[in-house]
Amino acid sequence: MPTPSSAQRVAQSRASVAAPQPTIPHNEWRCTRCYKLLGVCRDGRMHLRFTRGHEYLVGFPVQATCRGCGSLNQATAPAR
Ligand SMILES: [Zn+2]
Repeated sequence: MPTPSSAQRVAQSRASVAAPQPTIPHNEWRCTRCYKLLGVCRDGRMHLRFTRGHEYLVGFPVQATCRGCGSLNQATAPAR
């Protein structure tokens, strides 16, 4: 008797929780949970801006914690 694999079940549950995404410029990197702007992709690098004027240009992959909701976000490659 065939049973659904655990991988299939995970894929289905992920698809069901996916929220409708607002339209955003593709060079913006936004939090996957609350859509707060985390950085902007420029010339193949990510431009991160923090409070008090701290700014960073970093290469990929880049990970950052959302300052709004605390989610860890990851961008593996520049948006095209
Ligand atoms: Zn967030």
